[in-house]
Amino acid sequence: RQVGIALVGLGEYSTDQLGPALLETQYCRLAGVVTGTPESGTRFQKKYGFPAENIYNYDNFDEIAHNDDIDVIYLVLPPALHPEFAIRAFQAGKHVICEKPIAPSVAEAEQMIAARDAAGKLMSVGYRLHFDPYHQEIMHLGRDMVYGRVTEIESDFKLYVDDPENWRARRALGGGSVWDMGIYNIQAAIYTIGENPIAVTANELTKQRPDIFNDVDEAMEFELEFPSGAVAKCESNFWADEDSHRAETEEGYFELTPAFYYSGQRGETHERVIHHGQVNQQALQMDDFAQRVLNNDPNTPVPGEMGLRDVRIIEAIYESAANGGQRISLEL
Ligand code: NAD
Repeated sequence: RQVGIALVGLGEYSTDQLGPALLETQYCRLAGVVTGTPESGTRFQKKYGFPAENIYNYDNFDEIAHNDDIDVIYLVLPPALHPEFAIRAFQAGKHVICEKPIAPSVAEAEQMIAARDAAGKLMSVGYRLHFDPYHQEIMHLGRDMVYGRVTEIESDFKLYVDDPENWRARRALGGGSVWDMGIYNIQAAIYTIGENPIAVTANELTKQRPDIFNDVDEAMEFELEFPSGAVAKCESNFWADEDSHRAETEEGYFELTPAFYYSGQRGETHERVIHHGQVNQQALQMDDFAQRVLNNDPNTPVPGEMGLRDVRIIEAIYESAANGGQRISLEL
């Protein structure tokens, strides 16, 4: 049996990545959508071939409880809307995949996890890179200390954004460069080193376009300190299209440049090239979760708790930046 997934929010990521990926999955299929724009719903319905009854809107969303075609709700909305719809999805008796960041605050992320537990359902986060062989290799190189201990990480992710209506530029929708982009550097630093950070410091960079980014950060530099003594130096911004992730180790280095896109990774170490065949990250990510749903197995590598951990770290980064770069300790 294939698990039925309903995409909620038919913006760019659903349209360009998740919908097409669902044509390549083995254990799940696109079974419905939830959208505020009926024409988008019909477009998806025709393209992906599910019944017209499986098009929902944000008002009749809760009726999904009575639809056995749909097992999993995949939230692809601006982050500030994730908590409400995750909680409604769990109350409707569905499993949830939630895009990153799972919530714009620790308190709301905790409520989502409590709703999951009350419903006895499964939850995972759209952390697609855990399923990419380049990232799986750097996890191995770092955690297994193939070149000795990781001593320092430099990790950047920059995305050019110039639309003031984009949720990325709007605090009320969950925007800000660390919430959207820096989260990848936090993730990658942690899975490269295999430890959670114990403290952060951060410094918001001067805005280049304060008219667009008037209530969120356009760019942030931040550092994570790890128990082993390693430090990760990171930067996120909305004024370039660029990314890389590099680890210095006791015996050399390894890096991915570019690192974080859907495809096109290139990697090397001080002694060799890192090369893997192309995969569809999102198809692998959704198939992994679908198999867990089929087997009632809560041990996803990207659980709700990981999403909550990252929200804690991001809140601490903003707290540091708001307090002149003060060091904020973390207990994760
Ligand atoms: P987007 O702006 O293109 O799409 C958001 C959708 O939400 C739109 O269709 C919009 O109409 C809808 N929406 C519903 N209610 C809304 C409201 N009140 N205000 C604004 N929009 C509303 O954004 P996107 O790039 O598709 O991002 C959506 C989510 O997916 C975010 O959480 C983002 O972080 C995540 N995302 C993840 C990846 C990844 O690689 N994992 C990549 C891109 C986006």
